[in-house]
Amino acid sequence: MRPEPGRTCLGCRRVRPKRELVRLVRSARGVVVVDARARAHGRGAYVCPEPACVARGLDRGRLAHAFRRACELAPDLAVSVQAAARAGATGDSSRTTSRR
Ligand SMILES: [Zn+2]
Repeated sequence: MRPEPGRTCLGCRRVRPKRELVRLVRSARGVVVVDARARAHGRGAYVCPEPACVARGLDRGRLAHAFRRACELAPDLAVSVQAAARAGATGDSSRTTSRR
């Protein structure tokens, strides 16, 4: 049993369990995309799959700060974040803290 890894959301700046966030990566061409499988190498950024956080977090300035390099947003990045969140919510049911 180890503590859940926490990551900071780009939008609200809150630290949340990694599984509740969507991971973003910056491709070699500088385009930020969703890392749906969370397997890409290098620095990642995280955002809550909530409209407010997506709207605030998916900003070139914030992403450039997170990745420490200039970034371009993929055209459908916000949509991809929501889709990834839905896929993750149905695919991961291994909750260790669900004890009543
Ligand atoms: Zn957030």
